[in-house]
Amino acid sequence: MRTHVADHPLVSHKLTALRDRRTDSPTFRRLVDELVTLLAYEATRDVRVDPVRIETPVAPAAGVKLALPKPLVVPILRAGLGMLDGMVRLLPPAEVGFLGMIRDETTLQASTYATRLPGDLSGRQCYVLDPMLATGGTLVAAIRFLLDRGADDITAICLLAAPEGVAALETAFDASRPPVSVVTAAVDERLNGQGYIVPGLGDAGDRLYGVV
Ligand code: URA
Repeated sequence: MRTHVADHPLVSHKLTALRDRRTDSPTFRRLVDELVTLLAYEATRDVRVDPVRIETPVAPAAGVKLALPKPLVVPILRAGLGMLDGMVRLLPPAEVGFLGMIRDETTLQASTYATRLPGDLSGRQCYVLDPMLATGGTLVAAIRFLLDRGADDITAICLLAAPEGVAALETAFDASRPPVSVVTAAVDERLNGQGYIVPGLGDAGDRLYGVV
């Protein structure tokens, strides 16, 4: 499994503003949107393309276009929804599937409570959106779900990750075929006793949408 930390001053600048407790929800949503677009640029480095020939106003030229089947973007409800616009802005031809995951607070096992995905994901490159890679339980379950449906090549885009979450994904998908990767803006220090990333940014869903 490959973990890529986007090391770029603009990413760090936006992430710092995102972490700040004084940042209000409208600004937080805008920053998430911008940050995801920057992360998506890294995450789509290996998106498949086919060669095409076109005519410029001056001469014939060789180029590329996104290959079929179209890539699939999968936000994990609820907080992953806040990352969707920023992702599809960079990848407009992508299709979007939805995955609702919930964690049983006793067993700590994540399970799906809502899905809106193609039944067969054979040959599809998938981009999973989940802002916070904390324990990794939700993301591991979501990626297994997609692999079971035949997904081919999965990249998770997370705003922030904890070392514990990265380790959980590495254990689960160490030698995974098809490959799994994670792209994130930063790997923070640790998880605290409540499962929050430290220093993190708090509850991403609440900061995007308020406490409901
Ligand atoms: N989910 C969040 O929203 N924040 C964390 O710090 C960890 C999990």
